[in-house]
Amino acid sequence: SLTLGIVGLPNVGKSTLFNALTRNDVLSANYPFATIEPNVGVVPLPDPRLDKLAEIFESAKTVPATVSFVDIAGIVKGASEGAGLGNKFLANIREANAICQVIRVFDDPDVTHVEGRVDPLSDIETINTELILADLQTLDKALVRLEKEARTKKEKRPEFENAQRAKEILDSGRTLFSAQSEVDLDGLRELSLLTAKPFLYVFNADEPVLTDEARRAELAKLVEPADAVFLDAKVESELLELDDEEAVRELLESVGQEEPGLHALARAGFHTLGLQTYLTAGPKEARAWTIPQGATAPQAAGVIHTDFERGFIKAEVVSFDDLVEAGSMAAARSAGKVRMEGKDYVMADGDVVEFRFNV
Ligand code: GDP
Repeated sequence: SLTLGIVGLPNVGKSTLFNALTRNDVLSANYPFATIEPNVGVVPLPDPRLDKLAEIFESAKTVPATVSFVDIAGIVKGASEGAGLGNKFLANIREANAICQVIRVFDDPDVTHVEGRVDPLSDIETINTELILADLQTLDKALVRLEKEARTKKEKRPEFENAQRAKEILDSGRTLFSAQSEVDLDGLRELSLLTAKPFLYVFNADEPVLTDEARRAELAKLVEPADAVFLDAKVESELLELDDEEAVRELLESVGQEEPGLHALARAGFHTLGLQTYLTAGPKEARAWTIPQGATAPQAAGVIHTDFERGFIKAEVVSFDDLVEAGSMAAARSAGKVRMEGKDYVMADGDVVEFRFNV
């Protein structure tokens, strides 16, 4: 499955956040004997729609979609020592499908900042510079080859020019993801460039920042078009110690949050990976299934079982809101809210689906 790699400077709260993620891990919680990679946290994508569906269909359980975060250890240590990034570190980031950068915003005189002061923009630049330098190395090598090819094969010309544009962007100190309107990222795919991956920023903040909407907007603006999540990693780990809902609410309120930051992080992670869900429900379970944004009905069916994709006939689809308004599948059908969709149908978020297929 797709993963987000967690990176950041030392002492920004990565381990604290990752520990919270692994304690929220649905795999270790549900499958105690499964082999679990110690550096992967598989967290549920919160979806209140599942409880509602389970109510309507009298489902025995709910099964949420999940998001996987990988702790990429040993990180930008080299950056601060001027040593650059280690090969193992780079290989780990290359394997991740998106980059989740943790940025320290919290103020705490007891926690040393590697650069001696809390400065989110400078930290973002430090990390991005390392990633950009790694990409430039890859790209410089590729450009030599692409230029040679473009000289003899005309059809290789656009690929070469696209790579040249990418180099200009990196030379100007920008990530390819942030400049995606200026370059064809798909055309660079085979180079596995680090800064072409989708980015997500987690601002590890304390109460004064979490409750300051203007400050949050300012930080979010720094990282556009990436998603920004604001949370207090320490509070997140404390939340998991509590089993009383009232206590959870009180702690969240004390930092001005309406929901755990891990929920927002799971949603942002899912979105950053380019994923969406559709829903199925029956007596056994109400379930969210993960598909790439833009997936068609047969592709969506294939996530349940490959036979479903091959034998796809049609999908019976109702939007979650219409279903809830009608109160039952039968009522939604008689209200004309249930559509029959064919193989070209592009799935919408919140579709509740029943597939018809041949086996
Ligand atoms: P890492 O080096 O990025 O993995 O950082 P750690 O997770 O080990 O955190 C470094 C220190 O900062 C630890 O002492 C944490 O308890 C503390 N810390 C982490 N997150 C927060 C936070 O949100 N607020 C405060 N005040 N301290 C934090």
